[in-house]
Amino acid sequence: MLKRRLGKTDMKVSVVGFGGIPIQGVAFDEADRVFKKALDEGINFFDSARAYTDSETKMGRSLEKVRKRIYLSTKALSRTAAGLRDEIETSLRNLRTDYIDLYQLHSIGTLEELDRVFAPDGAYETLVAARKEGKIRWLGVTGHSREVILGAIESGLFDTAQFPFNPIEDEWSEAVIPAARKASVGTICMKPFAGGAIRNHRAALRYELARGMDVVIPGMDAAEQVEENASVGRKLEPPSEGELVDLHAEKVRWGEKFCRRCGYCQPCPNGLNIPFLMLIDGYYTRYELRDWALARLGTLAKKFCDCAACGECLVKCPYHLPIPDMMKDAAKRIV
Ligand code: SF4
Ligand code: SF4
Repeated sequence: MLKRRLGKTDMKVSVVGFGGIPIQGVAFDEADRVFKKALDEGINFFDSARAYTDSETKMGRSLEKVRKRIYLSTKALSRTAAGLRDEIETSLRNLRTDYIDLYQLHSIGTLEELDRVFAPDGAYETLVAARKEGKIRWLGVTGHSREVILGAIESGLFDTAQFPFNPIEDEWSEAVIPAARKASVGTICMKPFAGGAIRNHRAALRYELARGMDVVIPGMDAAEQVEENASVGRKLEPPSEGELVDLHAEKVRWGEKFCRRCGYCQPCPNGLNIPFLMLIDGYYTRYELRDWALARLGTLAKKFCDCAACGECLVKCPYHLPIPDMMKDAAKRIV
């Protein structure tokens, strides 16, 4: 497996890393087999999140013995200094380690939210303090909005940026990836298969690595997936002409109905959290993480069926998604 330095950090990460979402859906023993396979294939970068239920715990249990030769990365949604302090302590316990290589502020959605984490008593304060204490080594940010990730990169305060980049969501290559390169901010590619929409996995990974992402982190829950994805990291080559045709066809197929979670459609006058509902639909339908999706849907006051089809969001979505129709369709499928 080829390795690359992740931005300005000292981490030499395998170009194919391990995304920790789907591992939530398998039993501990099976997770152990999947992690073992990942290690055998040369994967040394493992990414999880406090929000991924038992993903950190499974990583901790399976990777404790090889801690010194891997990099652990995780993230938390807390935006306050005190809240993030608790999250870091929990991550350390779950991951069975006394340091975490990369800790990220998870899913910063707006520039206001970014300002809030930098404010006094904001989460960034804790990242810096935890680094001084040796509990974390490098500081990262994750998100779905290009303006937020660009703002985070330009702040000069983060070592890495994690965002969704794939042949369908390729707008990131215009400004964000070049800005990250210029600032030596490491780029971590989440959702390399567009949340399950892209079927040609090897071609997608080759595409993303060829377009400047430092590391791709496909979510995996089976040894065969690890083998397939890891094979791309043995020899870096761009996708072939045939693969590019395939990927373009995927983009055309999903282009009209693929939510990038940019949030421009918000606010909805009826109180629907449109990007989050789209995310839940994606997890339910494409990832088949149905229990996980339903548990999150249960936390929302306004669900798919509450869309009044007022059309306000339609003019705000830069991708022209037929949002009211998608809400109606999801309301029928997800019950
Ligand atoms: S529906 Fe459109 S505007 Fe709203 S988050 Fe998705 S892509 Fe962005
Ligand atoms: S069409 Fe539905 S989702 Fe869109 S703004 Fe109106 S109520 Fe909200």
